[in-house]
Order: sequence, then structure tokens, then C-alpha cells
Amino acid sequence: MTKNVPASDASDAVEPDTTSRSLTRRTLIAGGVAAAGALALAACAPVGPSPISTGAAGGTVRKITPPRLDTAYLGEKVLCYRPMRRGAPNMSVETVGSQVIGHNYGHGGSGWTLAPGTAKYVVDLVEDTEQGKAFSKGEPVTVVGAGVIGLFTAYELVQRGYSNITVMSEKFDKLTSHNAGGLLAPVSMDNAPEIQAIIDKVGIDAYRFYAAVAKGEQPDFEGGAKIVPSYFETRDESGLEAYVGQVMEPAKDVVVDFGNGTTRNMVVYDDGIFMDTAVMMQELHDYLDAHVTFVEKKVANFADLSSTIVFDSAGLGSGALNGDAEMVSVQGHLIMLKDQVPADMEYMILVYFKEGHTEAGQKVKRSLYVFPKHLPGTGPNDIGVVGGTCVEGGTPETPNLSEFETLLQGAKDYYGIA
Ligand SMILES: Cc1cc2nc3c(=O)[nH]c(=O)nc-3n(C[C@H](O)[C@H](O)[C@H](O)COP(=O)(O)OP(=O)(O)OC[C@H]3O[C@@H](n4cnc5c(N)ncnc54)[C@H](O)[C@@H]3O)c2cc1C
Repeated sequence: MTKNVPASDASDAVEPDTTSRSLTRRTLIAGGVAAAGALALAACAPVGPSPISTGAAGGTVRKITPPRLDTAYLGEKVLCYRPMRRGAPNMSVETVGSQVIGHNYGHGGSGWTLAPGTAKYVVDLVEDTEQGKAFSKGEPVTVVGAGVIGLFTAYELVQRGYSNITVMSEKFDKLTSHNAGGLLAPVSMDNAPEIQAIIDKVGIDAYRFYAAVAKGEQPDFEGGAKIVPSYFETRDESGLEAYVGQVMEPAKDVVVDFGNGTTRNMVVYDDGIFMDTAVMMQELHDYLDAHVTFVEKKVANFADLSSTIVFDSAGLGSGALNGDAEMVSVQGHLIMLKDQVPADMEYMILVYFKEGHTEAGQKVKRSLYVFPKHLPGTGPNDIGVVGGTCVEGGTPETPNLSEFETLLQGAKDYYGIA
């Protein structure tokens, strides 16, 4: 059986940018991933030939009932923007006068995957400085930004006994961190070998945290993460092989049977983790409400803050705060699903399609993912999200709305829905 893939242009393949890059305006960055400025890091998913394959091969058969994708079952269409830093996320510490700034931004499409681990990593870096060692945990600390990175940084600080924490943020609601899909997989990065060890360490730490939440072993969180099978076309495309043997079991080769004549050869990690992002954001707020002060304010300059220790987790806003020319917005399109059969949605799938150009002439890396996302306050059957675009440089001025249709058609083709 042959299936169509979404309209794309194979000749549009994006070459990873391997030119060396300048770091931030200030020069005191040390001990962090940002120092690897010459690394190649693609803004989104791995790029390759169209990987759609059909027909049975070796492997156990797994039956999956496709989601309902007719118009009546589609919910809100969401546009959001990944804070991607070309070269590497900035996980580093900088001293400016008497102020110590722990930078933690630019994780692109893997911010959720890394958040609890990257928060620990940067808090460690700050505590290792002279000022960090001399700091009393009752002195004021400011966390700039209230996305998943800022909230997990605040959570980590509370765990370590800091008692005077302010989370200062321009916005608290409807952030990229609420909109994100929720797959645990460091798939949106294409790191050079010297960075990969740190990303893997941080990711494995994060996996441990979410696994504890999913198993009910994390007393501060009632939900927000669960273990579900995660399907990919190849082990490499999952980005999870470094986790196998550390925290995950090996993937299995399977044939996924959609029950409508369409089958796909896939690999599955049965201990994949889904983060229900909006739910987890709510849980983080619920926990932090009792421990930190939230202040709604846009920070124009770190020097305006009176605290000696500052954590810079402003996502795309960190680009402006640091004059960081390597920061880029990577647009994503998501379609929420409704009136589904919850039992049919207990899995995640990620497959890559070919690259193309959007109606605004921007390069788009197209993929399909389906996760069991559930927004707080919606009905019990309003489960599922379909997503898959990465438009580097995409902003609200270039919404590229026809990508929603392309995405939906790609999903129908993939599942074999007429
Ligand atoms: C479509 C899509 C799907 C995704 N799916 C996944 C996924 O499946 N798995 C995964 O791991 N990741 C995923 N991501 C990526 C993930 O959402 C991001 O990496 C992550 O949310 C970034 O978190 P953040 O805290 O850095 O940024 P944000 O959530 O953008 O938060 C930044 C915060 O900083 C504040 N701020 C900005 N500027 C200032 C300023 N000057 N002063 C004060 N405050 C400021 C903002 O108001 C906000 O509160 C996805 C992203 C998108 C767009």
C-alpha cells in the first residue's frame, strides 16, 4: 500500500549551520554549554528522506485505533514558538559586577524534556561560584521567566532550602510551555558530540524526575506525567538511545496495525514519558504558590534587579535581554482533539516528513506527532493533540496558517484515514 505524504519539496533540504558563532554580548560566560558556540545544532527535528513506510515486516503486531480526525473532532488550533538557541542552549553562569546570572534558555523543542535536569544543572553552576558559595539561602534570588524552565528552577531552589525567591515574569499564562506537546525525547536538537554528553545527563536526570511523578513517587505532584508507549520510525530518530540501560529499556521492533488496512513498521519504547504540559504547569504553580513570590513584570535589564543571584529563564525574551543573536523563534502548529475515546489515545507517535516551504516562504520541517494531551477544565474525552511543524524564524507576523491543513492531511495519510 502506498500513502501520500504532505506536500513538500525534497530539494529544500536544510544544511545544518556549522559556521562558528559569537556568544553573548558580555564575555564572562563560563562553565556552561553556551561556550560551545561553534557547534552545529539544527533548529528542529532530524532531517532525512521521507520515512513513511508501509506494510508488515518483522516484529510483534501492535493494534492502534486511529484518532478521530473529522472536523467535528478538532478543537482549538494553536500557534506557538519554541525558544531555540543556535549552537546550543545557554546553560551557563555569568558574573557581572557583584551579580551572578545563571542562564538557562534556548532549549528549542526539548525544553520540557530537559527542564527538571537543566534547572539542577544551572543551579549547580551558580552554587559553584564564589558568590554562590558565600550566599545565604535567606537572601533574595530572582528567577526571570515563568515558563517550564523558570518554574522548575524555582522548584529546585525551594528543594535546596532557598527561602526568598521571586519569580518575575512578563506573562504567566498561555505560554509556549503550556502549549507544548509533551513528548519526552531530545529530538529537536542536533548536537555536536562535545555537547551531547551534557544534554544526555540533563535529560536522564529529567527522565528520573518525571518517571517518579508518573509512578506516584513524587509527593509534590499528583499527576502531569505518565508512562506510555512512544513510537518512532527508527531508534536514532527518538534521541533516546543514550537513555537505554540508564533509565529506559531497549526499544522493540513492532508492526503497528491501524485496523483499516494500514500498517507501519515502527520501534516502540514502552517506558516513554508523556508530560501533560498544561497540567504540570498548574501543578508547579500550585506547589510554588506556597513557597515563592510571583511578580508580573517585564525585566529590561538584569542590572535593574536588586538580588545578587538571578536565573535567566525568559525563553525567547532572553535573546533580547542578553543581546543574543543566536536566539531564534521556531514556530509550531498544533491542533487539539476532542470527543476522542480516551483508551485509544494512550500512546505517542512521532514521524518525520520532508521539508518544504510555507506560504510565507519560510523553511518548514514537517512531522507528525500525536500525544494524549488534556487541557485542565476540558471534558474527559477532549484528549489528544496533533502537531508537527517547525518553522525556523516563524513569528506571529507569519502565521503560515495553511500548515494546519497540511498537518491534518499528513495525519490522515499516515493513519490511512480516507
Ligand atoms: C508546538 C510546540 C511543541 C512542543 N513540544 C514539546 C515536546 O513535546 N517536548 C518538549 O520537551 N518540548 C516541547 N516543546 C518545547 C518547549 O515547549 C519549550 O522548549 C519550553 O516550553 C521553553 O520553556 P521556557 O521556560 O524556556 O520558555 P517559555 O515557556 O516561553 O517561558 C518564557 C517566560 O519568560 C517570560 N519572559 C520573556 N521575556 C521576559 C522579560 N524580559 N522579563 C520577564 N519575563 C520575561 C515569559 O513571559 C514567560 O513567562 C514544544 C514547543 C512548541 C512550540
